[in-house]
Amino acid sequence: MNLQIDDCIFCKIIGGKLSSKKIYEDDYSLAFLDIYPTSKGHCLVIPKNHYATILEIPEFELAKLIRSVQKIGAASMKALRADGFNVLQNNKPAAGQVVNHLHFHIIPRFSGDGLKISAASRKAEEHELAEWESALKGHL
Ligand code: ZN
Repeated sequence: MNLQIDDCIFCKIIGGKLSSKKIYEDDYSLAFLDIYPTSKGHCLVIPKNHYATILEIPEFELAKLIRSVQKIGAASMKALRADGFNVLQNNKPAAGQVVNHLHFHIIPRFSGDGLKISAASRKAEEHELAEWESALKGHL
């Protein structure tokens, strides 16, 4: 396994061409500190192979990657005394993806930290829910 892209900054980190604060590594994944942290100890967990989004990564590697996400989340709770953490994963620029290499953000949370990271929004109308339910089910 060695699927890497020359102009990808995360591939360069994996290949050792760019430095990072690596905190965990196994055969399939790497975790390092985000240099633009949303909170104390904000980490990124990435697959060692280059996949642009979550849609491209094979199931086996995704399972390994998620296990690393779980480990880093647990470590942030213990090591940083976080009260919780958010797992955030953006796909495509419209969703806020900046680096075109699949990555999970592990954002430690502290009671009363005031960060606004939430999927909660307005309550949907019944006709909207029916339309989206039908559209999504049609592609699964
Ligand atoms: Zn890459």
